[in-house]
Amino acid sequence: MVVRSYEQLHTMLLKEQQRLKAAIAQHPVMERTPAGYGNHAADDATDVFDQAANVSLLQSLWRNLEEVEAALDRFERGTYGLCLRCGEKIEWARLEAHPQAALCMRCQRRQESR
Ligand SMILES: [Zn+2]
Repeated sequence: MVVRSYEQLHTMLLKEQQRLKAAIAQHPVMERTPAGYGNHAADDATDVFDQAANVSLLQSLWRNLEEVEAALDRFERGTYGLCLRCGEKIEWARLEAHPQAALCMRCQRRQESR
């Protein structure tokens, strides 16, 4: 798909927001019994491992959702596509790949090299 307009990026963000919310809603981690309440030690070990994996997956889903919603918020304010750090326009290719990008490539690189 070739992305040509901010409108398309907005649609992509809305779809991603729906997808992430659905993934979080159906995530089993909240329904599981706390680790340590099982009868079998071996099962407990697996549970702890599963739970840790679930929690980190859930955390990354939440983090993604936050980024997507922050980007949608910038759409509302009319600042979407501008780098949060330097205020320059974020490269189009970057927005195409990551519609939720908040920093331009230069600022992103600078942040990662820290
Ligand atoms: Zn920047």
